[in-house]
Amino acid sequence: MNAPFYDVIVIGGGAAGMLAGISAARLNKKVLLLEQNEKLGKKLYITGKGRCNITNTCPDGDYLDNYPRNPKFLYGSIAKFGHEDVIRFFEEIGLKTKVERGGRVFPLSDKSSDVIKALEKELNRLGVAICLNTKVTGINVKDGAFESVSTISDSTTAHNFRGNACLIATGGLSYSSTGSSGDGYIFAKESGHALIDCRPVLVAMNIKEKWCERLQGLTLKNVRLNVIIKKGEKSDRVFTGFGEMLFTHFGVSGPLILSASSIVPPPDKDHRVFLEIDLKRALTFDQLESRILRDFSDNINKQYKNALQGLLPVKLIPVMIELSGIPAQKKVNLITKEERKNLVNLIKGLRMEVDSYRGYNEAVVTRGGVDVKDINPKTMESKIIKGLYFAGEVIDVDGLTGGFNLQIAWSSGYVAGQSAG
Ligand SMILES: Cc1cc2nc3c(=O)[nH]c(=O)nc-3n(C[C@H](O)[C@H](O)[C@H](O)COP(=O)(O)OP(=O)(O)OC[C@H]3O[C@@H](n4cnc5c(N)ncnc54)[C@H](O)[C@@H]3O)c2cc1C
Repeated sequence: MNAPFYDVIVIGGGAAGMLAGISAARLNKKVLLLEQNEKLGKKLYITGKGRCNITNTCPDGDYLDNYPRNPKFLYGSIAKFGHEDVIRFFEEIGLKTKVERGGRVFPLSDKSSDVIKALEKELNRLGVAICLNTKVTGINVKDGAFESVSTISDSTTAHNFRGNACLIATGGLSYSSTGSSGDGYIFAKESGHALIDCRPVLVAMNIKEKWCERLQGLTLKNVRLNVIIKKGEKSDRVFTGFGEMLFTHFGVSGPLILSASSIVPPPDKDHRVFLEIDLKRALTFDQLESRILRDFSDNINKQYKNALQGLLPVKLIPVMIELSGIPAQKKVNLITKEERKNLVNLIKGLRMEVDSYRGYNEAVVTRGGVDVKDINPKTMESKIIKGLYFAGEVIDVDGLTGGFNLQIAWSSGYVAGQSAG
């Protein structure tokens, strides 16, 4: 018996795959969507803490600054289907949206499940065939062109589906429980595409200093973070950012730390990574020293341990006292100029060493993947296999937090679906 034939076969029912399926089906193509999970959009469901930060309204001129890797590759697809198109598309399919601080766009209902429902409804309206519990096990290529996919359903039944085009939208490696198994990388490699090494990014960091644990739960707002890489005797500042971070039982997390993880390579045998936090970035060293002097002279008989309340969060004070090396019981009027300068330096540069980054199962995205040099950015078609397309996180592109990763999925999915269709 001949295997069933489709115009476009999409592998992966995540953000990129669903958008690609819709965009191909809107061209009246016969589309098949294959998803190994029992439902579509398992990762979408957990995005934005269950609220799904769909995209970001950042001005066009700055948009690509939010993509640390291969922004030029993304230029074409984001120009064709940018954040305004995404918002319009969702409104059209019945999902109302709202814009929050920092240009972050969310569904008005604050429910990621509504995003999935709207996409599913549109897939059904367009008559896209959806096979759940169906894992693609291989891609078959003949004479340099895509021919068919092999699948296994419900872990038992093997099928083949033939098609004019196949679109790999299998995602990355993070949060594997959502279906990110890395299969797309295998398919790409087996069909001759180069892969760029993967690592988890937008991820928290383990810190060596034991005092970090005592700060668990403390959020620092409006701080400056410098990240320094030390190779032998040489030190280089490789990242500077402002914003919010928090302490956890293992180290540090929060938006600022996640962004840094995306830019700075984790420590290895050749280099060490240090974080330096400026807790009072609005004050210069001199201004901070004057402020401390004023605080101390207002309370000359106070013990040092009771004199920092106005300056630092309560949870941080015992740690800062310890790190400053000034005896906790010392009367503030006896604190020497040198001790005071050390305290200023500590507040302007609280330093800690990164032990390692947390793993894929806590990372928002995967860095690396299918090398962009093997993909045509205008169509998302492989330059190696005719009729084979890529979309979403499986490609070596990733964005910062704020809706920029889903924008990759929507833009590349839209373009791939249009071109394959
Ligand atoms: C906790 C968390 C929160 C996030 N929040 C946001 C956010 O708010 N905003 C934002 O922009 N980004 C966010 N992201 C990132 C964003 O979710 C991803 O970048 C995006 O979902 C990638 O879409 P994708 O379609 O490429 O991959 P996925 O969404 O991972 O979809 C891939 C699909 O392919 C399927 N699949 C894989 N292999 C096979 C196979 N062999 N056969 C059949 N099916 C297969 C998988 O089961 C999966 O359903 C978040 C990520 C995480 C982990």
